[in-house]
Amino acid sequence: MPLRLDDMAASGLVAPERLDELRRVAAQFAVALTDDMAGLIDPADPADPIAAQFVPTPAELADTPEEQVDPIGDDRWSPISGIVHRYPDRVLLKPILLCPVYCRFCFRREVVGKKGAMLDREALERAFDYIRKRPQIWEVIVTGGDPFLLAPRRLAEIVRVLDQIRHLGVIRFHTRVPVVDPRRITAALVAALAAEKAVYLVIHANHPRELTAQMREAVLRLTRAGIPLLSQTVLLRGVNDDAAILEALFRGLVAMRVKPYYLHHPDLARGTSHFRVGIAAGQRLASSLRGTVSGLCQPTYVLDIPGGYGKVPIVPCAITPDGSSGWSVEDSAGVRHPYPPDPDHNRRPK
Ligand code: SF4
Repeated sequence: MPLRLDDMAASGLVAPERLDELRRVAAQFAVALTDDMAGLIDPADPADPIAAQFVPTPAELADTPEEQVDPIGDDRWSPISGIVHRYPDRVLLKPILLCPVYCRFCFRREVVGKKGAMLDREALERAFDYIRKRPQIWEVIVTGGDPFLLAPRRLAEIVRVLDQIRHLGVIRFHTRVPVVDPRRITAALVAALAAEKAVYLVIHANHPRELTAQMREAVLRLTRAGIPLLSQTVLLRGVNDDAAILEALFRGLVAMRVKPYYLHHPDLARGTSHFRVGIAAGQRLASSLRGTVSGLCQPTYVLDIPGGYGKVPIVPCAITPDGSSGWSVEDSAGVRHPYPPDPDHNRRPK
């Protein structure tokens, strides 16, 4: 059973005198923490990066003017319940809006963990029909909430139906379960993902301490079944806004066969300003990995444009026009070079 607010107080993760204030937070945004994640927290450390992600704080009661209820514009692109169709060739399918933990920075925090969190059978059938009738849809991203909270039998049913839709090429799952509740990755769950089509998994990890032995075993069960794994990370102030922490996280993921895919600039969700890093600082961090860390360990730093205008890379571009017909390109040490190179440049003495 996940820990709720009172359990957190009982185990010393929140101060009893803060409980009233935190009940006001919990009335707005769901609260839950798994035993695995609770076990990683050092209650004596007020800046613990695991606690910061899952234990609510009064800072969540403060909204700022730029914050939004639906920061990435899901509603605008949701033609029917359970479907978000923002890009022509792919849709999100959201069968469940429950999670094993509730991240305090979540971009869907207004909807996850609330009443009506499960798509009923009829709504799910309508969502499948929506996909079946649109041959331009090539990829379905099953997300939520966390689809790995569904029973393996129900997951298998979703995979079976999607696998039978001829125009689909890829079924992708987004989940935090292998990290925060790794024992749920059972043989039955892995078997539920078997399909003729390519099934990809994107896991969510933000700090190297989340890469536990249990998580590693869960990932191994998935990779041994031939499922390609990618990861996404949210750049969070006080959690991972540090080059050494990001490097350790990405190296750790790659070493367990998980390719870092996205580093997300945090979204403008309500009550999350204490997590936000400036764009320039984020760009410096993303650039600092260039040249020092293998390209395998470098996710794309992205921003979801508020209002639902999509995800765009926001890494500084290393190449710029040089003002004539060529280009100027910057290496990882910050030294600029002409491109194409000056004919006399690098010419070996005879
Ligand atoms: S697991 Fe994902 S959807 Fe659930 S609270 Fe965390 S960020 Fe939000």
